[in-house]
Amino acid sequence: MLDVEDLRIRFGTLEAVRGASFAIAEGESFGLVGESGSGKSTILRALAGLNRDWDGTVRLAGEPLGRLRDRAFFRRVQMVFQDPYGSLHPRQTIDRILAEPLIVHGFGDIDARICRALEEVSLPAAMRFRYPHQLSGGQRQRVAIARALISEPEVLLLDEPTSALDVSVQAEVLNLLTDLRRARGLTYLMVGHNLAVVTHLCERIAVMSHGEIVETVTAEDLRQGRVQHPHTVELRALSL
Ligand code: ADP
Ligand code: MG
Repeated sequence: MLDVEDLRIRFGTLEAVRGASFAIAEGESFGLVGESGSGKSTILRALAGLNRDWDGTVRLAGEPLGRLRDRAFFRRVQMVFQDPYGSLHPRQTIDRILAEPLIVHGFGDIDARICRALEEVSLPAAMRFRYPHQLSGGQRQRVAIARALISEPEVLLLDEPTSALDVSVQAEVLNLLTDLRRARGLTYLMVGHNLAVVTHLCERIAVMSHGEIVETVTAEDLRQGRVQHPHTVELRALSL
């Protein structure tokens, strides 16, 4: 579903991503872990079209993504950020926030789609008339997930989607993401630093260090300690 080959991203003289390659099957949930600054968010931002200055090949269901913005591609690939407050416009009601992608991508039945989207993330319909600051952190992340899903994408890019939440709310949001993936047959690419969280959601995990993928393992391999690279061993000792 998503093929990334030799992705390279520079910021001036810094090589933030140094030839990352991975392929994610349809319906698969793939994780990227690694220390802070290893290039995880940079990869997601490039795939979400937020940074158009990269080299390499990216294919969605076999179709190559050009470096220019392609509206169809970016409807099919949506992103959820770590901090749902930062990513929701503070002066827009939830209604407006959810209507915007529908308008941009030319969907009809906006009202019905907004109601369905809120229901899908288990928020009451009356929430649509509130502003982001009137919601809890977990509710805001549910709105961000609803907004990402409302244009019916195939791939969801998740950048530490539960890191900013309380532990009890983290589990709820992870369970919601698991259910949504099953119900919709979505493909996930999730970034995280907490291995327990990433192995909960992801079937395969690539370990990054200094802009490179040093090892790709299954969640089960990680849990059982069947890992090779010293960096993976260390990461596992720190967070599992
Ligand atoms: P991670 O998400 O793994 O913590 P990032 O992808 O955010 O890491 O960052 C990777 C590296 O690229 C870091 O050294 C960071 O400082 C740098 N970086 C990220 N975004 C930019 C930017 N817009 N301009 C310059 N440097 C950046
Ligand atoms: Mg990051």
